[in-house]
Amino acid sequence: MIVVDPQTMSLEPVAPQASGLAHLVAAAEVGSEPPGDEIPLYVPRRKIYPQSVHGKFRNIKSAVLLVTLGIYYLLPFVRWDRGPSAPSQAVLIDFPGRRFYFFFIELWPQEVYYLTGLLIIAAIGLFLMNAVAGRVWCGYLCPQTVWTDLFFAIERLVEGDRREHMQRDGRAWTAATYARKGVKHFLWLMVAWWTGGAWVLYFADAPTLVKQLATGQAAFVAYASIAILTFTTYTLAGHMREQVCLYMCPWPRIQAALTDEYALNVTYRYDRGEPRCSAKKAEHLHAQGQSAGDCVDCLQCVHVCPTGVDIRGGANLGCIQCGLCIDACDNVMTKLGRATGLIAYDTDINIKQRIEGKKPFVRIVRIRTILYAAIIAVAGGIMIFTLATRDSEGISVIHDRNPMFVRMSDGGIRNAYTVRIVNKQLKYRDFMVDVAGLPSSTIDYLGLPPRADGRQWVSVGPDQTREVRVAVTDYNATPPAPSTTILFRLIDVHSGAVAEMRDHFFGP
Ligand code: SF4
Ligand code: SF4
Repeated sequence: MIVVDPQTMSLEPVAPQASGLAHLVAAAEVGSEPPGDEIPLYVPRRKIYPQSVHGKFRNIKSAVLLVTLGIYYLLPFVRWDRGPSAPSQAVLIDFPGRRFYFFFIELWPQEVYYLTGLLIIAAIGLFLMNAVAGRVWCGYLCPQTVWTDLFFAIERLVEGDRREHMQRDGRAWTAATYARKGVKHFLWLMVAWWTGGAWVLYFADAPTLVKQLATGQAAFVAYASIAILTFTTYTLAGHMREQVCLYMCPWPRIQAALTDEYALNVTYRYDRGEPRCSAKKAEHLHAQGQSAGDCVDCLQCVHVCPTGVDIRGGANLGCIQCGLCIDACDNVMTKLGRATGLIAYDTDINIKQRIEGKKPFVRIVRIRTILYAAIIAVAGGIMIFTLATRDSEGISVIHDRNPMFVRMSDGGIRNAYTVRIVNKQLKYRDFMVDVAGLPSSTIDYLGLPPRADGRQWVSVGPDQTREVRVAVTDYNATPPAPSTTILFRLIDVHSGAVAEMRDHFFGP
């Protein structure tokens, strides 16, 4: 641990027990451990009563909460016209139809690699956020944070702010206490139920499913999914809260390995705050020509913390970097007429810089941030390019295994195939299939009558696939090699669009 020597204002590595900051470590509500060998694997939970706070970061959190929850609850009802043959829901995971719809993007099962690309971008995006501003995902965007924040708001509405709530819980419970708790849990359950309800709407036409759910006609799996999500939301956001971040989530551990000294983290500027003392004592010390820190030890930063962390103890696994302690401390500093920013997004390097009389700096552009941004740009660019240029038709071919070939009475060698034709456009299309690689061959669609002009076309409905049986017969005077590579070409007879697939033609 590094502390400031108040006489020299230099950084000295000092063991916490021996330092003037030892009481900070002891005061940390999360992560404090009993001395000696008896370190429990699980610290008994102390109920946290986070106090409401006003300020810049609270406003950002509230805006993010409204936007993310608004998107989650309302997105299934956004309509998107895809014609009569496809569902008109903007975002839909259509398991029966084996499609994923996202506004103008429609993914087929064979395009699941786009999901891999999305996961890569999401993971590297998290790394990038971490490299720039620590656990900004945890503090503002993580569903656990967002829903817990909403549950806190409901709790304050019903049970009052920190002080009032603590006093009520500390007194003997009356009928009014039970009634309050009942209302709170009812509201929590309603939010949890809506959360589960909104989730299933992403898997079916939302207005139809809402009617089916209301009239008891929806599938059992819909009710079961809602029940499971209601339970998990109520439990995780209402009861487990910070325990999820401390014990269940792997991200705090991963980010500890990913972060570096330049990442901005919510930091208590101990160079300015220590030695902490009351405003009155500080005045007294100043009058005597002695130094006093700006921290007045009011504990406002601890009281607003949703995970119960005292950020003045230094970096802490329990800190989700939500910035609420910054707001709380800024409010205190403003009231005292002192400069804000005693707690701020900063780095330990900058604290050292200031102590040494050097200029602090922020270095966002670094090798790791450039690398992360480049990976995101490349993965995103490849996905956008392939999406923009992907074919709207496709062909897959499976050769018959038994028999591999048949010698016909007219001397030809025949191989049979199952051809699947894919039409990704939202209209009927006519296709023909030809084969390259066997100059003296013919191709027949088995069981498909020829058109009036004698040619055989295959009509495939909008956004559908169709399987046809195809026989390729080779009449070459010289029998083909035991295995000849051939090329199946699927041609849209109207637009001329082509898709190709290689397979083999077998002979004696
Ligand atoms: S809110 Fe600011 S002044 Fe009050 S204890 Fe926290 S750091 Fe010190
Ligand atoms: S210490 Fe501050 S930034 Fe960290 S979780 Fe608590 S309030 Fe949020």
